[in-house]
Amino acid sequence: MIYQRSSALFAEAKKYIPGGVNSPVRAFKAVGGDPIFVKKAKGAYLYDEDGNKLIDYIASWGPLILGHAYDPVINAVVEKAKNGTSFGMPTEIETELAKLAISMVPNMDKIRFVNSGTEACMSAVRLARGYTGKDKIIKFAGCYHGHSDSFLIQAGSGAVTFGSPNSPGVTQGTAKDTLLAEYNDLDGVKELVKANKGELAAIIIEPIAGNMGCIIPTDIFMNGLREICTQEGILLIFDEVMTGFRLAKGGAQEVLNIKADIVTYGKVIGGGLPVGAFASRTEIMDYLAPDGPVYQAGTLSGNPLAMSAGLAMLTELNNNPEVFKSLADKTEYLHKGIAEVLTQKGIAHQINKYGSMISVHFTNEPVVDFASSAKGNNETFKKYFHGMLAKGIYLPPSAFESYFLNDAISYEDLDATINAVKEIDL
Ligand code: PMP
Repeated sequence: MIYQRSSALFAEAKKYIPGGVNSPVRAFKAVGGDPIFVKKAKGAYLYDEDGNKLIDYIASWGPLILGHAYDPVINAVVEKAKNGTSFGMPTEIETELAKLAISMVPNMDKIRFVNSGTEACMSAVRLARGYTGKDKIIKFAGCYHGHSDSFLIQAGSGAVTFGSPNSPGVTQGTAKDTLLAEYNDLDGVKELVKANKGELAAIIIEPIAGNMGCIIPTDIFMNGLREICTQEGILLIFDEVMTGFRLAKGGAQEVLNIKADIVTYGKVIGGGLPVGAFASRTEIMDYLAPDGPVYQAGTLSGNPLAMSAGLAMLTELNNNPEVFKSLADKTEYLHKGIAEVLTQKGIAHQINKYGSMISVHFTNEPVVDFASSAKGNNETFKKYFHGMLAKGIYLPPSAFESYFLNDAISYEDLDATINAVKEIDL
């Protein structure tokens, strides 16, 4: 495939935008080469500026669970836009989306909308600190909760891809309140909690991690976290920005059967428009301004276009929950197909998967945390990524990212993907 125009557009972008992109992973630094500039997309496919058609396994990093330019979402946004794009005043549709979202997820009484996953996680931690009166939080190495200062401590996703899991610009003062544990290591958490007794506001975790590849928690680990939090009066925050409305209607809380104290959302809940949200029990949410003392706000929060996209998306998922099974079946098919080919080729690999999240790691060892994920062979990953791209398959351009399947992907697309793995040199 030819990517001439994309390369030219990238060169031009670099003159005016740092690194040519508005979010680092897009720049292809981890895999080399120039990023692809997209012109439009429909269903499972991206169409780039050079006229190439690609099968998309990123789906805007998760939101487009039913495929690109999904008609009910597009129609809702277009209709809404005719009545104005933003008011900074209450609108009925905010309550409609809130009501629907709360009815789909377990254990949540109230929800507040923001504009991104970063804002959702940042606000959830502020609320947890305000509610508990404690300062410290525990996060897990390789988990990504957005780019707010407290989370850029051994962060996953683009932060680790670019070698800045601890970013310059985050003050020591902020960093000291973020304690770091290893994913799936309950003993490590117990030690931290003991050493910081009475000082912890929250433990924040990706309940199925997607930012160091896809990593699944053990039952003992997750149940243990819940128990510790309950015993110690620490709030358990599930960052469901990836998993919310993707793994099931009720997200990870439902599939893992664990109740969190605060849950953050992003991606699917906005149907591809900028939306994040955080939710909790009434007693905690009423700590927020204007009724409570914890300040949190946003000019564009609850924006009518974003709310209409989210409402259309969640309505579809609520009415057709079989989509979650369909996605999991497709992901299973892809898993089996890729694993078979890599085994035939004699390439060391691990494939992790949960529902419609999946990641391929080029290593012999089970990938259960950040350290084991980082052992993957990045040279093989680069060949795999570029080989697949040349065959028209668009995968995440970093081994630390999960693929997100969308339900517009057909079994023919999956077969084409598996065949591409067969044909590439690794
Ligand atoms: N939490 C998780 C689990 C995420 O995966 C992401 C983004 N990929 C975020 C938070 C931050 O969301 P946003 O990029 O919308 O700020």
